[in-house]
Amino acid sequence: MGIRDWGPPRFRAPTPDPQPPTPGVFVNAIVLFGSPGSGKGTQAKLLTGCLHVPQVSTGDMLREHIGRGNELGRAVAERLHSGALVSDEVVDALVEERLAMPDAARGFVLDGYPRTLAQADHLCRWLDSRGIREVVIHLAVDYNVVIARLTGRRQCPRCGTLYNIVSKPPRVDMLCDLDGEKLVIRDDDREEVIRERLEAYERQTRPVLEYLKLAGRRVVEVDASNDPPDVVFRKICQATECDDRSEDCR
Ligand code: AMP
Repeated sequence: MGIRDWGPPRFRAPTPDPQPPTPGVFVNAIVLFGSPGSGKGTQAKLLTGCLHVPQVSTGDMLREHIGRGNELGRAVAERLHSGALVSDEVVDALVEERLAMPDAARGFVLDGYPRTLAQADHLCRWLDSRGIREVVIHLAVDYNVVIARLTGRRQCPRCGTLYNIVSKPPRVDMLCDLDGEKLVIRDDDREEVIRERLEAYERQTRPVLEYLKLAGRRVVEVDASNDPPDVVFRKICQATECDDRSEDCR
């Protein structure tokens, strides 16, 4: 049984004490892990389209608050625009609130969370207390590829579609294929901010991977350096299905 085969809701009601994951329970939470520019957002969209579960992107949620100009948005804008991470308390609360929504009851794809050891610990406790088993997909991408992707990235300010001037240009120069809006460079894709985001990844986020492995969580490595998104997507599906099926096909 693989990630394509999710059935009806399988989440149990929250329990006061953490429960050990039940052997044989199918995957119903996917954690996409990787550096900025590793393709988490793109893969999250492909997965959610196929599984009909929501993409939970902390970056998108934070940008939405900034766009609305509310108190939370104003509080986090400076850190976001400088490339530094927002506090654990803020993102933990945002994620908990989002995962409690009914559309996440069948499962969800986490994109950009957890990014610190404290967030990873928070998430593991949250999942365990509900008997939810996750699979962590590490999108491994070469550093130079990441730089090329981030510096060439353009986004439609209206619908959010991502392009790359080299690897995925729009049909008409600098205009969104879907709604014709003029594409923009996201604030945090400017060069000095990219440097800070990658430093934050190395310093605070990369150690999370080791933490998750040592904690015995299921971590699947997927090489996402050179292949187009649909090939990476197939690799994710295969890796997850193999992981679910048996030891000997890994
Ligand atoms: P992203 O779109 O995932 O690259 O996130 C953009 C920015 O949002 C990051 O550079 C951080 O400032 C902030 N952010 C997103 N997710 C998190 C997180 N899990 N923890 C802390 N800050 C985050």
